[in-house]
Amino acid sequence: MGKPRVIYWFRTDLRLHDSPALKAALDLDPAVLWPVFTWDPHYVYRVKGGVNRWQYLLDCQNDLSESIQKLNSKSKLFVLREAPQTLFPKLFKAWNVTHLVFEKDTDAYAKERDKVVIALAEKAGVQVITRSGRTLWDSDELVAKHGGKPTMSITQLQAAGRKVGQIPRPIPAPTYLPDPGDMPVEFEQDKPDAEPDLNATHRGGNDKTYANIAGPNGDFAIATLQELGFSAEEASTPHRGGETIALKRLQEIFADEEYAATFQKPKTNPAAFEPQSTTLLSPMLHFGALSPRLFYWRAQDLVEKYGKGASTPPESLTGQLLFRDMYFAAQAAIGPPFAQTLNNSYCRFIPWHLPSKAEATDAGSTAVSGSYHVDSPQAERWFRRWKAGATGFPFVDALMRQLRAEGWIHHLGRHAVACFLTRGGCYVHWERGADVFEEWLLDHEPACNAGNWQWLSCTAFYSQYFRCYSPVAFGQKWDRKGEFVRRWVPELRGLDERFIYEPWKASRAALDKAGVRIEGDGLGGGEDGTYPAPMFDFAERRSACMAAMKRAYSIGLYGNDDRVKDGTWKELFEKAGETEMEGLDGGSDDDDDGKHADDAEYRKERGIGAGKHVRSQSAATKEGPMDRFAKKLRT
Ligand SMILES: Cc1cc2nc3c(=O)[nH]c(=O)nc-3n(C[C@H](O)[C@H](O)[C@H](O)COP(=O)(O)OP(=O)(O)OC[C@H]3O[C@@H](n4cnc5c(N)ncnc54)[C@H](O)[C@@H]3O)c2cc1C
Repeated sequence: MGKPRVIYWFRTDLRLHDSPALKAALDLDPAVLWPVFTWDPHYVYRVKGGVNRWQYLLDCQNDLSESIQKLNSKSKLFVLREAPQTLFPKLFKAWNVTHLVFEKDTDAYAKERDKVVIALAEKAGVQVITRSGRTLWDSDELVAKHGGKPTMSITQLQAAGRKVGQIPRPIPAPTYLPDPGDMPVEFEQDKPDAEPDLNATHRGGNDKTYANIAGPNGDFAIATLQELGFSAEEASTPHRGGETIALKRLQEIFADEEYAATFQKPKTNPAAFEPQSTTLLSPMLHFGALSPRLFYWRAQDLVEKYGKGASTPPESLTGQLLFRDMYFAAQAAIGPPFAQTLNNSYCRFIPWHLPSKAEATDAGSTAVSGSYHVDSPQAERWFRRWKAGATGFPFVDALMRQLRAEGWIHHLGRHAVACFLTRGGCYVHWERGADVFEEWLLDHEPACNAGNWQWLSCTAFYSQYFRCYSPVAFGQKWDRKGEFVRRWVPELRGLDERFIYEPWKASRAALDKAGVRIEGDGLGGGEDGTYPAPMFDFAERRSACMAAMKRAYSIGLYGNDDRVKDGTWKELFEKAGETEMEGLDGGSDDDDDGKHADDAEYRKERGIGAGKHVRSQSAATKEGPMDRFAKKLRT
């Protein structure tokens, strides 16, 4: 028997460093190795993604391909244009493949797809090797050690992790790669169904993704945005992807030992921009351009060296990565329903406005489809204004505009806009917000997005719905002068700082001086020199939402309840005699100042401060290495 002929299938691991799967492929001592990426139509058409994220993905592919070429000038990342489920059986035969190797993916859709590919490989006599490397621990092993249940808190995650064993240390990048073998593609290409195309609005009608199996020049080149039907001009983010940039950024972050060792997430400033106050490594982790284990061990080793004064989970950098693993393991246990309320036994049922329509999708027969019922024209208007960054609340609008333009906002900014859309303002379904984030985030990660939206809407992971972010006080706490608002809401640039978060309170003279009028709803672009009036009285809406949350909690339905599925939940809520439009007469609500950000449940579980909420206190703003760099430039 000859030496192995190996396809290494790159997917969510666009890197060479710390790749247990790539190491397993090289340990086979292959005669030939093809580094392959193939466009999966599920991600091309059925997952929403704006142009910024497509550009980021292509950045990661280009960088990886260059790194492969540096190791072996005959090789590169070979990109094929066909669904893996139809392509691989043909490649196995045409290229005489003996092994298929890839990194494990625990996303709901990917799991199903990989099952199909593995079965096809076995049928073709091809051996499949997979390794975990996308998370700190193998998510399936965590679930097994947690009794088959989802990890719903950091404490549970840590307990399950201890049973699995130590987080593996990172392994170095390979120093050589074998030559690729011949690559005949004289078989018939199966072209996927492009409909429905959830990205049609971005694509502009010139989609050539599947025009030729080996690309326009037949050389398996990495696609351009144009080939995928997108316009490069639409890519507005300054953030660019790739392993080379990721490793450089990691180096910079850990060069500032005090910043990295004492990092406390709740003390990082959501209004900091250019540079931001956290690492901005999430899109790199999403595309696998950075190994989470390398990141973790850099942080953990530093903390041990730093000693007294170093931060600890959940606020520390290691704690942030634990949150990521917690959501991945929760998703691995729950499967497709994790991304929705319907059929999700861990997700509370709240009768939010704009509920999803359930239809058959690629991700599972009962998964939500992305389309929704407009049960309230007013909630629909509020949702559209939220998405457009035209709510009339400048802090919320600034964040939403930054998100659309750059594809990234700070975690506490995500808290503020998510709370506002759901339980702290609009009472719109968290799945609507998750849809928008899916479209715009560079780091969109199905597990982290759904999990965090559930957290923020108090439907799972977190239940302190009486803590609510004020769109005024929360912004003021971090950025009294409103520099962040001025950056993203230029209509208000000239406004006195007393009114920058509440322009509707400014006198006519103050508005005239700033050259702005408060009018309209901001939809349809708005007129020059205008900024919309706030779309509701926030205090009133907060009370109404809290009353409704209290009612929903007392009724206590979860997404898998038959009454949720058959619609009889309505009778229960009607009998309870309260709708979300009626308010509480107050008293029990509290401004969330983000101080406890993600750790309130953790503190409760550990008996630290018994989960008590604290009224606004000013936390010292933590500077990041980029802050200091920027300061240096200024002096
Ligand atoms: C409503 C909402 C939606 C979100 N959607 C996503 C998403 O789709 N993808 C995503 O990666 N993160 C998501 N997050 C989590 C978090 O906001 C981002 O991971 C973080 O802001 C990324 O910035 P950073 O890399 O500077 O984070 P840092 O603070 O530097 O943290 C380091 C890394 O830890 C991980 N991390 C930090 N916080 C979380 C968290 N709460 N949950 C999971 N991982 C975390 C990220 O991988 C991050 O890169 C969401 C948060 C909210 C509130």
